[in-house]
Amino acid sequence: MRISIAGVVQGVGFRPFVYRLAKDLHLGGFVCNSPRGVEIEIEGPEDRLDEFLRCVRRDCPPHAVVEQVRVTPLVSAGESEFVVMSSTNTGDRCAPVLPDIATCPDCLSELFDEHNRRYHYPFINCTHCGPRYSIIRSLPYDRANTTMREFTMCERCRAEYDDPADRRFHAQPNACPDCGPHLELWDAKGRVLGICDDALLMACRALDDGWIVALKGLGGFQLLVDARNDDAVARLRRHKVRPLKPFALMYPDLESVRRDCRVSETERAVLDSPQAPIVLLRRITDSTMAGAVAPKNPNLGVMLPYTPLHHLLMAQLGFAVVATSGNLSDEPICTDEDEARDRLGGIADMFLVHNRPIARPLDDSVVRVMGKRELVMRSARGYAPRSIVLKHVLPSGLATGAHMKSSIAVCTGNRVLLSQHVGDLSTARTLDTYREARKSLSAIYALQPEYAVCDLHPDYQSTREAEKLRLPITKVQHHYAHVLSGMADNSLEPPVLGVAWDGTGLGDDGTIWGGEFLQVHDENYTRVAHFRTFHLPGGDRAMVEPRRAALGMLYDVFSAHAFGMDDLAPIRAFGDRDKTVIREMLAKGINVPVTSSAGRIFDAVASLLNLVQRCHFEGQAAMAVEFAAETVTSHEAYPFGIRGDRPPYIIDWEPALHELLRDIRGSISTGLMAARFHNMLAQTVKAVGKLIGEKRIVLTGGCFQNALLTEATVQALEKSDFEVFVHHHVPPNDGGIALGQIMAIARTIKEH
Ligand code: ZN
Ligand code: ZN
Ligand code: FE
Repeated sequence: MRISIAGVVQGVGFRPFVYRLAKDLHLGGFVCNSPRGVEIEIEGPEDRLDEFLRCVRRDCPPHAVVEQVRVTPLVSAGESEFVVMSSTNTGDRCAPVLPDIATCPDCLSELFDEHNRRYHYPFINCTHCGPRYSIIRSLPYDRANTTMREFTMCERCRAEYDDPADRRFHAQPNACPDCGPHLELWDAKGRVLGICDDALLMACRALDDGWIVALKGLGGFQLLVDARNDDAVARLRRHKVRPLKPFALMYPDLESVRRDCRVSETERAVLDSPQAPIVLLRRITDSTMAGAVAPKNPNLGVMLPYTPLHHLLMAQLGFAVVATSGNLSDEPICTDEDEARDRLGGIADMFLVHNRPIARPLDDSVVRVMGKRELVMRSARGYAPRSIVLKHVLPSGLATGAHMKSSIAVCTGNRVLLSQHVGDLSTARTLDTYREARKSLSAIYALQPEYAVCDLHPDYQSTREAEKLRLPITKVQHHYAHVLSGMADNSLEPPVLGVAWDGTGLGDDGTIWGGEFLQVHDENYTRVAHFRTFHLPGGDRAMVEPRRAALGMLYDVFSAHAFGMDDLAPIRAFGDRDKTVIREMLAKGINVPVTSSAGRIFDAVASLLNLVQRCHFEGQAAMAVEFAAETVTSHEAYPFGIRGDRPPYIIDWEPALHELLRDIRGSISTGLMAARFHNMLAQTVKAVGKLIGEKRIVLTGGCFQNALLTEATVQALEKSDFEVFVHHHVPPNDGGIALGQIMAIARTIKEH
């Protein structure tokens, strides 16, 4: 019979597994990779063939995911031997590309075994671990289609590669010190200071002395510095022009993480997983970390070593290092050593590099554990590309995502692939990377898109990119895309009530939305409720100045009297000149757009509580309110109103504002006020859920990266017998928008 297997079956040791199984059962035939997955032709007695089919599904290798098995009877060819054949190049390219996998326990013990020929070799890997997406150029996943093609395997490596009984059978990046990539340490001018082991030891010494080292990692460069050294960390902040945004850390091992952070069982499992992302952990107050690592932040972003190079480095160092993306502020991370010398020359003192090319930049992924489940906030190394299987086949297409946290999605057959996080499309470099991501994901799948999907916002660079493709275009409302991405992440079908809360997104009515309740039915959605709108003096400037959101809200309730409320922090935060100008703007309606944004309501509260008046990074204000609320335990909630007698209902925050002002003037603790605000938001979801009578509720949008808000909302809803769904593997922020855009198309095309 012929067995066609679709799913994650390439680059995970699937063919050797099939080979061994066939040998054990004394069956004849062959196995090969195909662009769709794996093809097997096999013959022998019927009972053993049945046994074979059972085992293929049941015992498959750890990273493999069998999605579909198709069996076709064949006439016997009289074959008694079983062989592994080279790949075929025909058919659709539908097999999902595998993300990169952290070093496996077997490779790790070889790495530190003096008698092993790969002792201390920083590029050790096998079929169960190592680079995948970061080295692949096209399908099928064979060495010639990866950045390892320029390294010719030595005899011993080749023998492993060809032996179906070996752990390195068809391990595409297989290499050793004799034939594979090697390390070099460069100074800032690119002069070689040392190679191989020497390079590593010298880099460690430099880090110990407080120098900044740029490391060529798996998906790009990281900037490393001793995390215990305040001066060194402060210097990195100055060089990177990043005054406050938290830095991620890499620790040598779990024990050292536990000395600085609380680690739950789920968090441990995520830290230790083959994806090995940055995990947000609660820091212990007397941690030894330099204050400059994550100022005013009760959490630390922590990861463990995930490549042999990182393992060697961290074992040698024995202390935690800052490991932040090798880039300047919002640009994409560097992947090439020569480019890195130019772009990072002003930041790093030394460069620890190697000669295995990186096919595409992949940042470290960021994960937070909420309610014992992981929530991916940035999906890149280890997670990307994310593959989602649709219920039916769609025409091939492309979605261009959002603007700030951009990513793209392609649809081929019954599969959607969501790319890695690319970033803010405002810089030319990011835009280049974004185009590359689109091209390379399309190339891997030989995609010929028949349509493009993009956001409704005409000024998003992603929208402009879609328009350049000369394809039929569908524009999808931002928050609808958020809800659809949340549904896809939970394999949900309509009807559901989607709660999409974020900073901004263009609404159907041309105003800025962001505090939306969308009921999703078969093919479309209805905006059933939203927050009462308020003015944002200065439009875009309000995104980085929470005081403007606060002033806009106060103005809408107290009109011009707001400007005289000098006892309030946002009013005091403006100079007289500013106040005069803004007053004029509000009176005349110039550059004061209205918004229903929940993110801006968070900003207003952050400003009123005098936590943040100007932001240094996105989400800073909302995070400050969350951190304040976490310091107390309270179930009290501010009151709110629901106006209107039919959808869209308006959730009026004015009653909450009055009580908040009373509390501010009554010297109630900031933490308690922040908690009452969070609880109020949770209650609004419950109230709207009851009003609409929809039992299944999806929470989506950047606001639901807030663990406190999410947990309070889930609790409030579950007490009232709602079924609540939160994001899991697809980011709730704009990183998931591209997936939602494809899902919008899937909703309108039922059969293809
Ligand atoms: Zn391995
Ligand atoms: Zn070799
Ligand atoms: Fe959004």
